[in-house]
Amino acid sequence: MTHLTSRLRDLASPRALICTAVVAIILFTGAHPATAQPFSVPDREPNVNLRWDRYYDYDQMTEALRTLVDAYPQFLTMESIGQSWEGRDIWVVTVNNPETGDHTEKPAFYSDANIHGNEIQGTEVTLYMIWFLMENYPYMEKVREIVDNRVFYLIPTMNPDARQVFFDQGGPTRSGTRPFDSDGDGRESEDPPQDLTGNKEILQMRKYTPGEGTHMVSPIDDRLMIVAPPGERGDYTLLGSEGEDLDGDGRRNEDGIGGYDMNRNFPGDWQPMHIQGGSHWYPFSHPETRAVGNFLKSRTNIAGLQSWHNAGGMILRGPGSQYYRGTGEYTNRDVRTYDYLGERGALMLPYYRYWTVWADLYTVYGGTLDWAHDALGVMGFTNELWSTNQLYQGHWDSDGPIPDEMQQLFFSDRLGMGAWFHEWEEYEHAELGTVEIGGWSKWFGRTTVPFMIQEMLHRNAMFALFHADEMPLLEFDRTSVERIAGNTWRVTAEIRNHRAIPTRIEAAEINRVGQPDYFRISGNNLEAQVGGFTSGQLNDEIAIADGPPAEIMVESGVLGLSTVSVTWIVTGSGSATIEYESMKGGVHRTTVQLQ
Ligand SMILES: [Zn+2]
Repeated sequence: MTHLTSRLRDLASPRALICTAVVAIILFTGAHPATAQPFSVPDREPNVNLRWDRYYDYDQMTEALRTLVDAYPQFLTMESIGQSWEGRDIWVVTVNNPETGDHTEKPAFYSDANIHGNEIQGTEVTLYMIWFLMENYPYMEKVREIVDNRVFYLIPTMNPDARQVFFDQGGPTRSGTRPFDSDGDGRESEDPPQDLTGNKEILQMRKYTPGEGTHMVSPIDDRLMIVAPPGERGDYTLLGSEGEDLDGDGRRNEDGIGGYDMNRNFPGDWQPMHIQGGSHWYPFSHPETRAVGNFLKSRTNIAGLQSWHNAGGMILRGPGSQYYRGTGEYTNRDVRTYDYLGERGALMLPYYRYWTVWADLYTVYGGTLDWAHDALGVMGFTNELWSTNQLYQGHWDSDGPIPDEMQQLFFSDRLGMGAWFHEWEEYEHAELGTVEIGGWSKWFGRTTVPFMIQEMLHRNAMFALFHADEMPLLEFDRTSVERIAGNTWRVTAEIRNHRAIPTRIEAAEINRVGQPDYFRISGNNLEAQVGGFTSGQLNDEIAIADGPPAEIMVESGVLGLSTVSVTWIVTGSGSATIEYESMKGGVHRTTVQLQ
């Protein structure tokens, strides 16, 4: 009955209009509205019934997005921000409730995924975020609060070309698919690994070379290969990834698809390729990174950012390099806010560690996070989705019944019924004669196994929604008007940030990024004589602000869970409009009477 009472409460509230519209949409798509409660009442069918135990290739993803947009046209719009190298549209879905304001007027949360083509499951996290918000909006107060007060710009895949290569053949598809001369021979991408057996996997090759090989079959399990002990020879030679020597230079797979790293192609501390491998010719030199960069620059209301990668189980924040600011660290004030979010995220995500990129993982120049922090004034995280630690009970017990080398095979055999390891099978290779091809599937290791996908999606999506919920949420706390004498008034206003993220991070203030916040007073019959900051107590001293008294610049914005108070001495009569304008906190107005 909970859903009925909450519906009735909604119908009596100012949101009734919005909810009625949602109900109408659901009726139009054929489902009964009372049944569409997949989360709070999990014995019901959702309105849009997407599966969360699978992955979506580019066309399937596009279709899923269109289905969602068609089902929730009041809230969702989908547009292309540009085309990939091969001409695929890079979609952004905007989640906004127009009844509570234009998307540009509210703090926005941005998320992208799959910049690395083989790191696929962030796409599904993004789809899940859209689906979860829309399916539960009519029924869950907290979801409504988030959707009504915030805007979401969600890019399910930044690298659709390499995503498609991953689905169609597998192999190392971190880069985009733009030809690149990885081996310095003057030819571009001329010798990639190939799916020789046509099973949409690029596996490993081995050759039976009795008494002459580098490797031997493990005595524990004949699927495992181990290096022959020193001074001995094994019966097998490992030949690397599936493929042929396509350019006839005596080497196989030495110049694969692409060969650059788009998450080293952003202008934040970008470095040339001899310092940062994969950075490419100059920042934003790829159509995909340029489209995303232009989009981010055009949405100055973005106040939170999340990029989805895999794997390892991490919530990463910048800086990317120990040379950053000479300290390798953001300012104390900014770090406190990152920690507030990241430490709570680690509680929401078992097996994930909250880490700093350079200090805990590796150095990254030209990544998304540093650019967002330093040039856009946006705090962001990169989650490395999925950790194979999640496969095991606690940590793998090396004294247990299964030898250490068998960890992953045990899991594949017993919980995957053998799904994720391809048995070695003979293949007639054009150059090498009879070889065997087999090994670990592309669906194992970096990608979450199917029966664990939904938990990954939900926990990570909830972390992103927590981050979005902690973007600045401003409200006028109190205003007062006090007559000093005649038509001279003392007007005091206080604005409160109810959330942890400041309206302006300290890096933005230091770097002079974007517009500072402004407190303004105006009226038909009003002239501000003096304006400045106060501690919020009546009859306080006023710290006179620079500039015209009617417009007080708030350089630091409103810090997290804090207030900013100002006082004006004005002359005039009638009503006065007080406005707080914040690039990342939205525009807020209130009216007072000079009486
Ligand atoms: Zn990645």
